[in-house]
Amino acid sequence: MISVDEAREIILSKIDRLSTEEVPILDSLGRVLDEDIISESNIPPFDNSSMDGYAVRSEDTAGAWPAGPVELKVLGNLAAGYVPESSIGKGEAIRIMTGAQMPEGADAVVMVENTEKTNGGVLIFTPVKPGENVRFAGEDIRVGEVALRRGKKITPGDIGMIASVGKARVKVVKRPKVAIITTGDELINIDEPLAPGKIRNSNAYSIAAQVIDTGCIPLMIGIVRDAKEDLMAKVRQAIEESADMIITTGGVSVGDYDFVKDIIKQAGEVVFWQVDMKPGKQLAFGIIKEIPVISLPGHPTSSMVSFEQFARPALLKMSGRTDIARMTVEAVFQGPPFVNKTGRRNMLRAVVTKEDGVFKARLSGLLQSDGLKAMALANGLMVMPEDVEEIKAGDKVTVQLFEPITG
Ligand code: AMP
Ligand code: MG
Repeated sequence: MISVDEAREIILSKIDRLSTEEVPILDSLGRVLDEDIISESNIPPFDNSSMDGYAVRSEDTAGAWPAGPVELKVLGNLAAGYVPESSIGKGEAIRIMTGAQMPEGADAVVMVENTEKTNGGVLIFTPVKPGENVRFAGEDIRVGEVALRRGKKITPGDIGMIASVGKARVKVVKRPKVAIITTGDELINIDEPLAPGKIRNSNAYSIAAQVIDTGCIPLMIGIVRDAKEDLMAKVRQAIEESADMIITTGGVSVGDYDFVKDIIKQAGEVVFWQVDMKPGKQLAFGIIKEIPVISLPGHPTSSMVSFEQFARPALLKMSGRTDIARMTVEAVFQGPPFVNKTGRRNMLRAVVTKEDGVFKARLSGLLQSDGLKAMALANGLMVMPEDVEEIKAGDKVTVQLFEPITG
């Protein structure tokens, strides 16, 4: 059986980044930029005032102080969005608002708090240095400069940058479409009444939610009976709907009706089966017509844990992301003691809190038998390495977080 790390490496080695598409600017948020954003103009485009005040020749303000202000003649009033009509000469100033273009002749702005209006003029109480309170053209971004590099995950700040260079559409890496097929004669749809021996198909939704949470698009292919023809038909449908990845759940164990591997083999190739992980040993990875197929175990928690370890990083790589690992923290385990003599890596559903700057982790369920409740309560997965036989209160543990922890 192969290790968790080996399995992830094999999967990632078979995954390629998807191609490019162009989307409206706001649809690019959170996606991976697939072009360099180059500014065709200076930002800001012209020298402008960073204060409400008076545009002046700095040399005219030399020696000004509260008891001995300098008086300048005011030529006019300049608001943001308009261009100066006159230049200023010796002994002159223009009232200027934040963001308005600097008039010719002026090299600094005295903030309004250091001035006092007079009849036709202004008293300046403090001197300014050349360039003071002026934002120069190209100070933020120069014309021709690469404002954003290809490969970056687009943040709200990046959106502002893209808007400021005047781009309404952006090239990004395509979002992977993920076909979700759930197998089992016992499954019924969530909007149908329960019947004897049947359970609701929760996996289709938990896995679709994980797919969405990874920034990808779920294709709800539906339930497959434990019959080979049925599964083959759904795989064909996934291919027709141009899935970039196929995810199945259930039917990948050693039971009499576990046909998933057979179908992958029949339609393509099984790359590996079974991983040294608990839960989630029953995992198959294959390729059908160049489409990666990740077959997750049927148990609802196992399928979600396996998605986290294998499908999520693969989908992020497909999306062009390079930051594909979950954030991990070192936490102090709060007990009760947990024993693992299987030699497999245990991924335990955990609740992590931050108290006085220290991360603390406890289990969110009843260990072996925990179900979706423990998964729903968990905000991370606690890693119990293969070679650790027991963890007890006070031990340091590593936890993969589903989201950042504050507090
Ligand atoms: P299997 O791997 O097919 O033997 O399934 C293992 C366990 O997971 C069984 O108890 C199934 O009933 C359960 N299971 C399988 N598929 C689903 C599903 N889509 N939703 C909820 N439970 C499931
Ligand atoms: Mg089954």
